[in-house]
This record gives sequence, C-alpha cells and structure tokens, in this order.
Amino acid sequence: MSVTDRVAIVTGGGRGIGRAIAVRLARGGAKVALMDVLEEPMAETVKLCTEAGSPLAKAYKLDVTDEEAIEKTLEAVNEAFGSIDILVNNAGITRDDLLMRMETRAWDLVLAVNLKGTFLMTRTASRYMMRQRRGRIVNIASVSGLAGNAGQANYSASKAGVVGLTKTTARELAARNVTANAVAPGFIRTDMTDVLPPAVKEKALANIPLRRMGEAEDVAEAVAFFASDAAAYITGQVVAVDGGMVM
Ligand code: NDP
Repeated sequence: MSVTDRVAIVTGGGRGIGRAIAVRLARGGAKVALMDVLEEPMAETVKLCTEAGSPLAKAYKLDVTDEEAIEKTLEAVNEAFGSIDILVNNAGITRDDLLMRMETRAWDLVLAVNLKGTFLMTRTASRYMMRQRRGRIVNIASVSGLAGNAGQANYSASKAGVVGLTKTTARELAARNVTANAVAPGFIRTDMTDVLPPAVKEKALANIPLRRMGEAEDVAEAVAFFASDAAAYITGQVVAVDGGMVM
C-alpha cells in the first residue's frame, strides 16, 4: 500500500487518532503536514513521523474553523511540500449532553469543528487536488453518526453530516481522479474516551463483538488504505473500524 512521497495533511494531528494516522502514513513514506490548534503536542508527532521514516514532517498551528487561516496554511503547505495529495479530516470534538439539556453553544461548537471544519478543509484542499488530477480525501466520521448515540445529538449529527459530505465530495471530484471516503471509528482508546466513567465504558464494551476497545492504530490502518494507491477504485465509502459494533 504505497503512499511514498505523497504529501498528506492530517488535522488534529497533535494527539490521539490523528497522531497515529500521521505516524502510519509516515511509515509508508509519506510527507506529513500536521495541523492542530496547539503547537506543543504536534512537535512530538513531528518527531515520531521523522523516526517512522517520513522524508518531511512539519507542524502548522491551525483551527479548522478559521476559513482565512486555512487558505493561507494550505498555500504554505503547497509551497513547502510541492503538492497536496492526501487530506485526512480528523480534528473533532465532543460536548456531550442529553438533547433536552444541550446548550445551543455546545451544538454550534461541535458542528463548527466536526462538520464545517471538514467542509472548509475539503473545499480548499480539493482545489489543489483537482488541478493536479490526483487526490485522496479521508474523513473521520464515527459510529455515532451511523447509528446515533444517546447524549451525542450534536456529535452524531455532525458525523452523519460528514458521511453525506464524503459522498457528495466523492461524486463531485471523481472526474478529476480525487477519491473521498470515510472511516467511522467505534470505541477507541484515546483522551476523548479516557474521560468516560467506568460504567459507560463497560456498557460500550458489552456491545463490541470483538470484546475490546479499538486502538488509534486500528483506525490508522484503514485510513492508510484509503489514502494509498491500492484504494484507487474506491470512493464514497464508509468503513466502520469498531470491532463489529455497528453492522
Ligand atoms: P482527541 O481529542 O484525542 O484529539 C483530537 C485532536 O483534534 C486534538 O489534538 C485537538 O486539539 C484537535 N482539535 C480539536 N479542535 C480542533 C480545531 N478546531 N482545529 C484543529 N484541531 C482541533 O480525539 P481522538 O483522537 O479520539 O479523535 C480523533 C477523531 O476521531 C475525531 O474526529 C473524533 O470525533 C473521531 N472519533 C473518535 C472516537 C474515539 O473513540 N476516540 C470514536 C469515533 C470517532 P486539542 O489538543 O487542542 O484539543
């Protein structure tokens, strides 16, 4: 599965699943441009990418909701790396609450980062990809967006939106040899899930046929596949990496 010398942008690459994706692509020989709101965690990911064999890894401080900054940052990446071949829209947040108690600002914030951020990044990156007649877009959705999840009205709506956006992106960009697919993680061991109470974790585990939480690396493998030449004839698809939770 080759991504050798391809230029990959990974948003939310400072930690968690984003870091694992960046390191996995680096191991495949990709050049990696990390984007995250905090600089410090990205420095560690850059180091790991270099150790994994990436010919070039750089960090860019970016909030994916900032339209103007996205334009400037991607221009800078294109200049420094020479192209933009792979975009992994991974940055995401949760602000869980029951629907009847959910504050409007929690709704707006989650939709802004998870859905609008994915749209803004895709819109800008796709211009570069269309020009070069080659590109891979991989969006990180969630099983919450496929099956719903109590306490996650905002999050599940944002991730269902990502699935719709992925399919439309796939249809619009196919003629220019740009594919768009989504990976929907289930219950993955990261900072996002570490904060959940033990009872919630136990309940989730009981619904996972493979009987374990996923690792960030499990998600990274699926992303690396979609980003590679091996997935050239696959577009508009959603693959759950969830131990069989949603089938
Ligand atoms: P983490 O919270 O561990 O990491 C998310 C990263 O995204 C952080 O580095 C965070 O920065 C960054 N980020 C947040 N907001 C922005 C923004 N506006 N602009 C740029 N970067 C931002 O999450 P995970 O690694 O667990 O999740 C990664 C993706 O996988 C998300 O899209 C999530 O929804 C999805 N997912 C995760 C699951 C899980 O079980 N963990 C399950 C299903 C889906 P900061 O450090 O400042 O917060």
